[in-house]
Amino acid sequence: MFEKKLDFARLKKCHECGACYDVCPSSLHLKDYDPRVIIKAILEGNSDKWIDSKMIWQCLECHHCVEICFQHYGFEDAMTAMRLLATLKGEHPPQIKRGWDMFAKTGKLGEPNMPARKRLGLPDPAASGKDEFVELLSAYSKAQKAETKGAE
Ligand code: SF4
Ligand code: SF4
Repeated sequence: MFEKKLDFARLKKCHECGACYDVCPSSLHLKDYDPRVIIKAILEGNSDKWIDSKMIWQCLECHHCVEICFQHYGFEDAMTAMRLLATLKGEHPPQIKRGWDMFAKTGKLGEPNMPARKRLGLPDPAASGKDEFVELLSAYSKAQKAETKGAE
């Protein structure tokens, strides 16, 4: 699963390049954030030691690294794969689970601040599309279960 999410040939180039460290806002502003050390660990087969690290959750998914990358593959892909792996192992921060539960139930990541919207003269927010989302999620879960069963 983890390997499927990562392209080791491109990660190797990324490890040798390191250029986007200088355009990554998290790298520039957070003392302990450095995707290069995680990429090195992945290539050495030691990714597990970063699973419970807060570093993998500090990527902003801003896509700067992917946009400037000559191979259109960035630090972000490695961080996303690490977060996926951590989540599958139940090693995610509690707010991630809370956010997901709310999203799965309501199709929203937060409630709009209605008094503030009114004060600013903003219209009512659009419907969240919750019903379609819940239906899609259920169809996806069923397909995933069938796929897992077929692979057994
Ligand atoms: S997507 Fe993540 S790793 Fe890439 S530049 Fe933005 S914060 Fe940095
Ligand atoms: S994401 Fe692209 S530009 Fe950035 S270090 Fe890796 S290979 Fe270099």
